[in-house]
Amino acid sequence: MLFSRQTFLVAGLSKSGISASEYLIAHGAKVYVFDDVEDGNVARAAAALEERGCVRIRKDELAEKSEKCDILVLSPGIPVDHSLPVAFRRAGKRVIGETELGALALRCPVVAVTGTNGKTTTVTMLDEIFKKAGMKSVACGNIGKPISSCAEELGEKGIAVAEISSFQLETLYSLRPHVAVVLNVTEDHLNRHYNMENYIYLKSRILKNSAESEYAVLNYDDPVVRGFAEKTKAKVIWFSLKERVEGGYVSEGNFCYFGEKLFPVSDLPLEGAHNEANALAALCAAKIMGAPDGAIFSALKSFRGVAHRLQTIGTLGGVTFIDDSKATNVDSAIKAIGSVKAETVLLLGGKDKGYSYEPLFDEIKNSGVVHAVIYGENAFRILNAALKKGFSSVTLCRPFDLAVRVAYLTAKKGQNVLLSPASASFDSFRSYEERGERFAQVFSLLVEESKRGEMEERETRTEITEDESEETDG
Ligand code: ADP
Repeated sequence: MLFSRQTFLVAGLSKSGISASEYLIAHGAKVYVFDDVEDGNVARAAAALEERGCVRIRKDELAEKSEKCDILVLSPGIPVDHSLPVAFRRAGKRVIGETELGALALRCPVVAVTGTNGKTTTVTMLDEIFKKAGMKSVACGNIGKPISSCAEELGEKGIAVAEISSFQLETLYSLRPHVAVVLNVTEDHLNRHYNMENYIYLKSRILKNSAESEYAVLNYDDPVVRGFAEKTKAKVIWFSLKERVEGGYVSEGNFCYFGEKLFPVSDLPLEGAHNEANALAALCAAKIMGAPDGAIFSALKSFRGVAHRLQTIGTLGGVTFIDDSKATNVDSAIKAIGSVKAETVLLLGGKDKGYSYEPLFDEIKNSGVVHAVIYGENAFRILNAALKKGFSSVTLCRPFDLAVRVAYLTAKKGQNVLLSPASASFDSFRSYEERGERFAQVFSLLVEESKRGEMEERETRTEITEDESEETDG
């Protein structure tokens, strides 16, 4: 793509839009930027981009200026069937994402990770393995650092460990990963992709450019992902928690790779079989990339997990608070429920994404969940699923802070309060991170309140003691 001959419209000035604009302007393109949100962050981003030579356009100029543009760079937050990309396509113009620019810019091998759940965990594991091995890697993509901003730093010798979401796959065409990892495909984002067929098709696109010299690391235990083997020319390396496959598997309590025993599963310091699967996927990709066994063991044995994924916040009055705010769909909440050992009061709810909550209650009925506190915009849909499945130990409660407090009051000593909401956060929060942080803040407030309560109690007790001593003295 000859950037200097093209005019781009970058729509959506979040992190990736900013990075795309910077990349394009640095490569000589003419760049218009647009965001229909008018808040301070957008204003600051737009002003900084204007200083670099981008031109900000207003809503009322959008139609006229769009006609002058050759290519639309669409934020992953804007659906491809929004009127703006539809207008570009109708005019025969290309619609791409920042990830596509990143794919065009990268000169180093890419390990790309997709799947409904476990992407960030697996990408972080891989990045830590490569770093332990002294290999120059950068975790990028959906994990926070836009790919186009890493190309220079990575050069030809680095490894881009790229987290790729289905939203990014909608506008990604040229990525040809040396290793493509597909973790799982379960119901999610149906409000955006409409149906499972479309969602599965998007996930499979990560493999579409692969040639025989490249690798696909696929989850043998997931029937959808298993089917992807037929859709790729890449050499398939399987991983499985259940079977001895050609690739990574568990045998007699050890992680193994093609017959080689690596290290005990019990050395992985994370809860849950899903994390064992993530570790298997990471070790397969790391092996393919030539990371030495020592670095793989050492990174995985010392892996402490990622914030807001089954993260223990603290214990109050014998009740442990666990933040799994990133469980934004049913399957991730199911995995969380299966991972916690003690009896649990579960916090559920948020923004609906169009799937059924009934499978969640099938699991809950056979788990350590003793009660569910349901909050959020989708509270009635979740309640409906609970009652349909015969799970009636529920409290409906809004807003979020109150729900956390009620969960704490409901939990008995020795039980958990688990925030694993099976829903997006956008009904009340800007992100799942903000929701997790709020959960931790309510925990801190409860701790303070309880300390104050104890102080008052202690003061009262002191007074009583003094009174008693006076009496005795008397
Ligand atoms: P992603 O980046 O795909 O959203 P994360 O690693 O951030 O994945 O984990 C998101 C949520 O999914 C967390 O709540 C976590 O506990 C759960 N999870 C992690 N790995 C898996 C997996 N392999 N299968 C199902 N759920 C998982």
